[in-house]
Amino acid sequence: MTDQKAIASPKKTKEILNKYGFSFKKSLGQNFLIDVNILEKIMHFAGIDKETGTIEVGPGMGALTEQLAIHSDKVVAFEIDQRLVPILQDTLSAYSNIEIVNKDVLKADIHQVITSQFKPDQEIIVVANLPYYITTPILMKLLMDRLPVSSYTVMIQKEVAERMAAEPNSKSYGSLSLAVQYYTKASIVMNVPKTVFMPQPNVDSSVLHLEMRETPPVTVEDEHFFFDVVQASFGQRRKTLRNNLSRHFKDKLNKETIEQYLNQAGIDGTRRGESLSMEEFANLANTFCKAI
Ligand code: SAM
Repeated sequence: MTDQKAIASPKKTKEILNKYGFSFKKSLGQNFLIDVNILEKIMHFAGIDKETGTIEVGPGMGALTEQLAIHSDKVVAFEIDQRLVPILQDTLSAYSNIEIVNKDVLKADIHQVITSQFKPDQEIIVVANLPYYITTPILMKLLMDRLPVSSYTVMIQKEVAERMAAEPNSKSYGSLSLAVQYYTKASIVMNVPKTVFMPQPNVDSSVLHLEMRETPPVTVEDEHFFFDVVQASFGQRRKTLRNNLSRHFKDKLNKETIEQYLNQAGIDGTRRGESLSMEEFANLANTFCKAI
């Protein structure tokens, strides 16, 4: 699609910038999309249709919001920058199915917003070009809040997308991969060049698709403790599991006890965290849970 009137074009974006004398705030991760073809692809990967309710984080000048309004039933967009509110009222004035919430998404009560803005039982998805400086806190908050959302399709820094979607035994695999994959099935659906943004960011971007799981892929006795063991196991990447766990639990368990529990879990203490699957971490945490 090459819609000349779309907000997502270099010409239209410059026009809006000039009209409002708007200056980008780097501290808010303001890199706006200026290519409508990329947005069409994002619509496709998000699996959006006219029945879907969509939540956007950071509408900016409305480039993505506009496409969400065209392709879905309703859009609720959280924008922290108050200067953008009158601009969005202008750029999106042709659409009656958009609600702009002028709030920091990290502080918003999204459950309440969902209840008040969407139909009961409506399928809700999140689609966003996230501000790079807080991608991980935003996604982890949304996932841990266990929102009634079926998928997330988000443009984020390529390196972070690789970490979130990584498999064991790869360079990018770590505690973030396990945290994201505990809640979702993660896949990178597209890499995106810097040239589709204004201003161009310093980093490469990817679109990450997260499909919410109905239940976690493993059963853990204590979620908090499971993630604590995962974090500890990656404490120092080059160190063995035995060393990382000994360091982390030094006030509670001696080395012999740690070795005994590793044996009981059937995991060789000379392995490194990056070689353990989610199932092995769950087994390890459930075994250690009894000792702590
Ligand atoms: N969606 C627009 C686009 O694609 O052109 C803009 C995306 S830009 C990468 C990120 C947007 O998130 C900016 O508009 C920024 O002001 C907003 N933002 C940054 N931090 C935020 C926060 N904590 N809560 C809500 N919005 C935030």
